[in-house]
Amino acid sequence: MSAGRRTADPFRVIPGEMAERVRSFDWTKTPLGPIAQWPQSLKSAVSTVLLSPVPIVMLWGEDGIMIYNDGYSVFAGQRHPSLLGSKVREGWPEVADFNDNIMKVGLAGGTLAYRDFVLHLNRTGTFEPVWLDLDYSPLLGDDGRPAGVMAIVVEITERKRADEALRRSEEKLRLATENAGVGLWDIDAEGGIDFSYSRRSSPFVMDRENRVPMEHLLSRLHPEDAQKLAAAYAVARDPTQRAMMDMEYRVLPEDDQPLRWVKIRGRGVFDADGNCLRVSGTALDITRERETQEALARSEEQLRLATENAEIGMWDMDVVNGVNYSTPRVKAMFGFAPDDDAPSEAFFDLVHKDDIARVQAAYADAFDPQKRTAYDVEYRVTGRDGIERWVQAKGRGVFDANGRCVRVTGTAADITAERQTREALRRSEEQLRLATGHAEIGLWDVDNVANTLTWTKPVREAFGITHNGVVTLDDFYAGLHPDDLETTSEAFSSAMDPKKRALYDVEYRTIGQEDGVERWVHAKGRGLFDDAGRCVRVVGTTIDVTARKHIEREIRDLNETLEKRVAERTAALEKSQAALQQAQKMEAIGNLTGGIAHDFNNLLQGLTGSLDLIRNKPQDTERVRRWAEAGLQAAERGAKLTAQLLAFSRAQKLELKPLVLNTLLEEMRDLLGRTLGPSVHVRMDLSPEASTVLGDQTQLEMSVLNLAINARDAMGESGTLTIVTRPLTIVSDPELQPGDYVELRVSDTGTGMPADVLARAFDPFFTTKGVGKGTGLGLSQVYGMAQQAGGTARIGSEIDKGTAVSIFLRITSAEAVREARAGGEGVMKHARHAATVLVIDDDPDVRAFLTESLDAFGYAVSEAADGARGLEMIARQKPDILLVDYAMPGMTGAEVAARVRKIHADLPIIFASGYAETAALENVQDANTAILRKPFRLGELQEAVANALQRQSSVQ
Ligand code: ADP
Ligand code: MG
Repeated sequence: MSAGRRTADPFRVIPGEMAERVRSFDWTKTPLGPIAQWPQSLKSAVSTVLLSPVPIVMLWGEDGIMIYNDGYSVFAGQRHPSLLGSKVREGWPEVADFNDNIMKVGLAGGTLAYRDFVLHLNRTGTFEPVWLDLDYSPLLGDDGRPAGVMAIVVEITERKRADEALRRSEEKLRLATENAGVGLWDIDAEGGIDFSYSRRSSPFVMDRENRVPMEHLLSRLHPEDAQKLAAAYAVARDPTQRAMMDMEYRVLPEDDQPLRWVKIRGRGVFDADGNCLRVSGTALDITRERETQEALARSEEQLRLATENAEIGMWDMDVVNGVNYSTPRVKAMFGFAPDDDAPSEAFFDLVHKDDIARVQAAYADAFDPQKRTAYDVEYRVTGRDGIERWVQAKGRGVFDANGRCVRVTGTAADITAERQTREALRRSEEQLRLATGHAEIGLWDVDNVANTLTWTKPVREAFGITHNGVVTLDDFYAGLHPDDLETTSEAFSSAMDPKKRALYDVEYRTIGQEDGVERWVHAKGRGLFDDAGRCVRVVGTTIDVTARKHIEREIRDLNETLEKRVAERTAALEKSQAALQQAQKMEAIGNLTGGIAHDFNNLLQGLTGSLDLIRNKPQDTERVRRWAEAGLQAAERGAKLTAQLLAFSRAQKLELKPLVLNTLLEEMRDLLGRTLGPSVHVRMDLSPEASTVLGDQTQLEMSVLNLAINARDAMGESGTLTIVTRPLTIVSDPELQPGDYVELRVSDTGTGMPADVLARAFDPFFTTKGVGKGTGLGLSQVYGMAQQAGGTARIGSEIDKGTAVSIFLRITSAEAVREARAGGEGVMKHARHAATVLVIDDDPDVRAFLTESLDAFGYAVSEAADGARGLEMIARQKPDILLVDYAMPGMTGAEVAARVRKIHADLPIIFASGYAETAALENVQDANTAILRKPFRLGELQEAVANALQRQSSVQ
């Protein structure tokens, strides 16, 4: 029973997944049939396979039916479990040929082994190289003949990959270190050095072997460095120190190899017990860098030596071999670089042409066996570097036994600075000689030891001495003015005093020994002291300063009287100033009275003329009215003139208010345009920063108008009037208080003014315009207005270029109050918009008077001779205002108005009527009517029209 059970399930006791699978697999679908019928050999083989921890697959029978263990199932990847029981050819189609061969060899009893073998298998859904160690051996059947093949499959892909990665990284390291010139080394515990990593680039390449003993390397180094390296190696290996090896050593030259410098860095590698296993690190050949550094240091040192001031250099001319040796210092004197090759001719070539003959002669003498003179010359050299130097050369010939000169050797020194000092000294001595020789500077020398006095000619002259004989200190004291004796003696003592050693600097008078003349002398000097501090000499100079003293005296005298003379001159000036002012005043008064007289004459003419006419024809009422009108106009001119006089006399007070200047100017644009005519271009350049100023609106407008009229007069036919505003701050001004102002500048392109006109243009009544044309009051009004407003006005003018008048007005922070002006005031009344006025009057003279007046005020006027025609015109086009006479033949003014009201309820109507008609007008009066009582004056007419318009605009 038990045997039967065993037979039924031969793998019962075998653990693992595969054993279970083999057991439960339906083997009847395979050529093997049910397990129970398997031959014994197969059963035992399967048992062996399933028990093996090594991945094994068994290929049984001709078809190679696959039975495998747990290890192989892992190797099979996704192919497992379908591989179980399948034919090997179908199980691994990608390697079918390979397996055919296996089966053939195996079933023939042969074995096969593959190492590091690669197959491309699809185990994960993609093909990949799989590295394998494979062993195949035949399996024998019950009959002892091969019945299948057993394959031990060890996958080594992972190991292969790791190996490959290692190989690559080593290769990379090798390449990297070789490129960088870095060598790698590794000293093992036995002291063998391994350079195998980077032989080619290793600085140790002098040895052909990869591995050399440490001693070998040490023997090759500079003894000093070998010692150091051994010490460093010992410390690096010492587990208690584990120091870094970091040093540079010299590898001694061998064969034809040069000396090399190597820099190494390395560290010990220690095991857990602290034993040093190895020391490894890098090595770098730094020979080139060391050489460069050394060369640099050398040439720097040479340069330093060569350029050191006044250093002595050595030279050696080998006459026999024609070789010249010079130290860098000598070369530097000739402008050569320290390592320039310089033959002796090159040196001679650089010697100054004026000195070369001397140098060559001296050299020849030193060379000459007969003379053997010492070579000792100073000469100039223009160096290769272009710098001129003085060289002092000293040397000697060296002669052989035969008396032949074999070399000349010696020293050279750069004495340029010394020469310069000597030259400067010579020059200053020369200057001193020139100065004392030619000028009045005298030299004196008091020798205390020899007890002598030396005076040059100028000193003698200063003392009135003409002879050249000996002078003594007695001469000095005798010639000195008694008043100056004390101070001079004191100064001299101080100069001699070894403690003070003061500068002797005195001015004294002398009385001429021979001529008795008084002179002034300025003397300066110093004491000279010996080592013991005794004053041995006092030397110095003198200058005769008599002339200067005289001038000084004169100046002093002048200064004393200056004050008095200034006072006198000032008084005289004041007198003439007063006279001038008086004359100017008289002229102004003359102008004034003349102007007034002229204007009064004119207006009186108008008055008397009218009155004459009235007296002659008092009955002609209509004409009397016109004459009266003319008379009134004349009287009005008189009133205007009076107003101007008052303005000029400043009696008329200005009403100063804050004004927005730019707005005021903008509003004048039309008026200015009309005043100046179409051929004058008006340009305004108003700064937005020009803010609110203090001024009188009417006066200011008048000023601008006056300036515009002047400009028009100056420009004639055409030109440009420019009005500019700009703010400015006055810091210091003779006329204006410091503060903020706006400059309003009106400039033209007119004739300009000559200087004399410019000087008087602001004067009242000064005019260059013909009688009746100019009043001379325009600019004076401008000036007066500006002054009264706290500012001023100034003129700039250039002949044929133009004139610019600037009005300066104070800026105010107060808000500008816009005045709603009544129609009758200010010049702006002219600027009223061109409203149309229809005049209906039967009298042609009155009608003409009315239309002309309204036209002059700037209105557009149309006229009608009677009511009917007037109504017709209104029907065609509505005027802005209707001015209608009351008493008319046909329709009266009231009737006309009544008709008009039917069409235009709001048309302003002004009735021109006498008092008698008041009642008749009552019926037609309303808010839009006004009565102008006859006889009315121009001003009243203007006001009535303006008021009517204003009413109108305020109604709308
Ligand atoms: P009026 O214009 O009546 O002569 P003003 O006081 O306005 O008086 O000017 C005085 C004089 O200054 C003028 O007669 C004229 O000679 C000169 N003048 C004034 N403004 C100008 C100007 N813009 N260009 C040239 N000359 C001028
Ligand atoms: Mg004028």
